[in-house]
Amino acid sequence: MHLLIQLYQYFLDQFYPSFTMNLITIKTFNDGISSHIVKARLESEGIQCFVYDENIVTLNPLYNIAVGGVKLKINEEDRERALTILRSIDETPLTNEQEEIIKCPNCHSTELYSGFKSMKNPAGIVAAITSFVFSVFPIYFKTVYRCKKCDTEFNQKK
Ligand SMILES: [Zn+2]
Repeated sequence: MHLLIQLYQYFLDQFYPSFTMNLITIKTFNDGISSHIVKARLESEGIQCFVYDENIVTLNPLYNIAVGGVKLKINEEDRERALTILRSIDETPLTNEQEEIIKCPNCHSTELYSGFKSMKNPAGIVAAITSFVFSVFPIYFKTVYRCKKCDTEFNQKK
């Protein structure tokens, strides 16, 4: 029964807004929280956004691999404007809870991917399976950063 509800939600998410608009995926995320941060930012600039597959990914991180992550979709006509905003978000350095700028420990670059990207590597998949088996929240994904310059992955110490 649970699975049926999830499948229903999935198809609803997938097709409902598509009836009326020409939606494109502007960005994908490995967790719902990150997608909502970006969504709020785009909406503050007047761009209508839809988050797809959030429920299915939140319910079970393993589905993340199956559905390809949480997708943020927008109207095709907003594409250029949205990409400009996304770039400006990317260029904003990440900060930790103490508001300090997070840097790569290897090359000190501030251009980093935050944790959710790490899902793509084997450790991320192992973490997903572990959290699925033991039904624990996948803390792993939120604490790993990856340098865009040298590909170093590191944990942010609190
Ligand atoms: Zn680096």
